[in-house]
Amino acid sequence: MVRSQRTADATVSAPWTIVGQGLAGTCLAWEFWQRGVEFSLVDRETGGSSRVAAGLVNPVTGKNFEPSPRIGEFLPEALEFYAHIEKLLTLRFWHPLPILRLADSAAEWNKMLGKTTRPDVARWLAENGAPQSVGGWHGALELAGGGRLDTRAFLDASRTFFQQRGIYQKSEIDIAAPGTRRIWCEGAVGLIRGRYGQHRCAKGEILTLRAESWPQSHIRIGAGGWLVPIGGGHFKAGSTYEWEELDENPSSAGSEKVTTIARRLGGGGAFEVTAHEAGVRPILRRSEALIGPLGDGDWMFNALGSKGSLFAPGIARRLTCWICDGIKPENSVRYQPP
Ligand SMILES: Cc1cc2nc3c(=O)[nH]c(=O)nc-3n(C[C@H](O)[C@H](O)[C@H](O)COP(=O)(O)OP(=O)(O)OC[C@H]3O[C@@H](n4cnc5c(N)ncnc54)[C@H](O)[C@@H]3O)c2cc1C
Repeated sequence: MVRSQRTADATVSAPWTIVGQGLAGTCLAWEFWQRGVEFSLVDRETGGSSRVAAGLVNPVTGKNFEPSPRIGEFLPEALEFYAHIEKLLTLRFWHPLPILRLADSAAEWNKMLGKTTRPDVARWLAENGAPQSVGGWHGALELAGGGRLDTRAFLDASRTFFQQRGIYQKSEIDIAAPGTRRIWCEGAVGLIRGRYGQHRCAKGEILTLRAESWPQSHIRIGAGGWLVPIGGGHFKAGSTYEWEELDENPSSAGSEKVTTIARRLGGGGAFEVTAHEAGVRPILRRSEALIGPLGDGDWMFNALGSKGSLFAPGIARRLTCWICDGIKPENSVRYQPP
């Protein structure tokens, strides 16, 4: 894809204001920048799920071992996007890693094996993707094409880039304040406020651990959770799903649950918890990201659900094409006011 370069610096009084610098707002800011659209980017700098996320991209997911919806379309777009920003900033955010999907029961293993003959599943099996035997598990399959986005590094470096050009500033925009041409990328707080209709946001908790003896060659997924090596004997482990208490406070119940997952996936031995965080996944409707005009001159980009790393770049590009060129995206990502 050929990307045009921005020609002039914008100021904070520029025509578009992107509200929220999570994955949604940041990917949109890069698309605007590359198209030469004038904008400002603001964030209140408290909370947000992108900074908590493990950034994991897993091509075949869930207890049903099904391909992530539309991954064949969105993954190449996301990888190209991150590679482009990495080159621009001479930094690395995307870390490809093979995935070891482990089966906790005979039923789960049989279900996984039964799907390996399906072309849409088989295409993600690693080249030598023969069933593997891993102690303590019913079986394992190695998947290729996945990895981890270092979300915090991506957001921090992007913030610095836009701050140095007078485009980013810390600010909390009051939704009731008059104004137009704002693009609301405010994540779960926007959905919980009820502005977009009924939501299904889910709190999640995540641990960062240090465990010298745990295997670091693969992302391990199984037993209802995941363990992601982040280098130097450190790991991210997660996660919980909680639909009632939608706050960003880590809980002892969450820590206990994730510790159990981590211990199971890590294979025992000593480990130390170095951080415990919580965030709220922005989920609306059928867990699909949504974009669109709000009818009052403002727009929205929200509902990235559990897959912000995969979908944010492609959805940001669609929103930019809609705003700049009038090209409407497919119906499934178009927000319809309730
Ligand atoms: C525990 C956990 C683990 C996860 N793991 C993964 C994973 O492995 N892979 C993956 O792809 N996804 C994962 N996710 C999901 C991922 O975090 C989301 O899909 C994504 O980060 C949502 O991005 P966002 O920009 O829409 O929202 P957010 O990241 O929440 O960003 C919204 C931003 O808007 C700001 N804001 C809100 N209101 C205002 C206002 N009025 N004025 C100014 N600023 C405002 C907030 O401060 C925030 O920075 C995980 C989520 C959780 C909770």
